[in-house]
Amino acid sequence: MTTPLVEMDGDEMTRILWQMIKDELLLPYIDLKTEYYDLGLAHRNETDDQVTVDSANATKKYGVAVKCATITPNAARMTEYNLKEMWKSPNGTIRAILDGTVFRAPILIKGIVPYVKNWTKPITIARHAYGDVYKNVEIRVPGKGKAELVFTGEDGAQVRETIHTFDGPGILQGIHNTEKSIASFARACFGYAIDTRQDLWFATKDTISKKYDHTFKDIFQEIYDAEYKQKFEQLGIEYFYTLIDDAVARVIRSEGGFIWACKNYDGDVMSDMVATAYGDLSMMTSVLVSPEGVYEYEAAHGTVQRHYYKHLKGEETSTNSIATIFAWTGALRKRGELDNIPELAAFADKLERACIQTVEDGKMTKSLSLISTCEEPVILNSLDFIKAIRETLDTM
Ligand code: NAP
Ligand code: MG
Repeated sequence: MTTPLVEMDGDEMTRILWQMIKDELLLPYIDLKTEYYDLGLAHRNETDDQVTVDSANATKKYGVAVKCATITPNAARMTEYNLKEMWKSPNGTIRAILDGTVFRAPILIKGIVPYVKNWTKPITIARHAYGDVYKNVEIRVPGKGKAELVFTGEDGAQVRETIHTFDGPGILQGIHNTEKSIASFARACFGYAIDTRQDLWFATKDTISKKYDHTFKDIFQEIYDAEYKQKFEQLGIEYFYTLIDDAVARVIRSEGGFIWACKNYDGDVMSDMVATAYGDLSMMTSVLVSPEGVYEYEAAHGTVQRHYYKHLKGEETSTNSIATIFAWTGALRKRGELDNIPELAAFADKLERACIQTVEDGKMTKSLSLISTCEEPVILNSLDFIKAIRETLDTM
């Protein structure tokens, strides 16, 4: 390696897996170079969360990061870790600094059959992670009266629309988005489609929402025509826009193998549907891509707290490390591509094949055995599963 990866360590069971993966599957095989940031909750607390900001800035500088799952503190964590403050979600902080879009894709393995039979290729969900109902303002209307939507410009000029004249109690919600954020989302999606050579689908409800959703549709189309159309045509990939309800029907009938860009709420709902249909969250990869082409790879699942408490009590755990391994391989492959080190990219490919081969050979963790059609799976503990992958890798 010539350029270091930004390594963001994390919490609980995934922190344990992190070290095992490095010891067993990376350090013996590659000259691993990383710039290490400890995003474990204790260290975030010590540094007043500065370490999270520093790791995001380092990602901007070097271009590629790999992140372990981290705790987003809640009230219970405040006492558990004796926190100075209820620090924000590291993923939220990093996403805000990188202005990125999150792409999630399932890892497909023979023996784990998707609930939707014809989904033979992965569907990648790209979720716009800003605004809409996630930054809403709501009012419970107490009774009779007129609700209005008012915008006051810097010069004081107002635009005003009547929302509804209430003759009894009701509810109101105000949502927004910005052209800047929508454009970043669009560029991240088009760039990722080119990067992974997959078609891009995008859908909204523009027939009903003639200004709000229609603006999403228009911005995507303008950016596509001006910046990406030529490249898409050269690669033989397609940008396809349709209505969200039509998209849902087409997705179910499809064989997969494309990126489905979703507005924030659609992405929240559809990513859970897609993840469940393909298997479970422990077989989902996740990458944050900024419009400038900065990448942060991680697993889609959390820190697997319940397993960690078992581990602390000295009990055996059978935690699936595949999504975390794929975070590393995604980052290593990207580093290999950017730095022109084909051996590094080839190693990443091989390690991924070793993971898949090991499970297809019947060696897996407990949660995988529950969804696998394998007749007599060998259920391994967390470390032995990683060691089994290492054995497969050695035969390659
Ligand atoms: P979680 O860590 O994803 O785990 C939920 C359950 O899913 C686990 O208890 C386990 O089920 C199963 N599971 C998830 N990953 C698995 C794996 N690799 N192997 C086997 N089973 C797996 O979600 P959570 O318990 O809701 O959250 C725990 C912590 O993670 C929270 O503090 C949260 O803030 C954090 N979190 C972080 C991220 C991130 O950094 N990206 C994302 C989500 C959550 P069983 O217990 O039934 O075996
Ligand atoms: Mg959700």
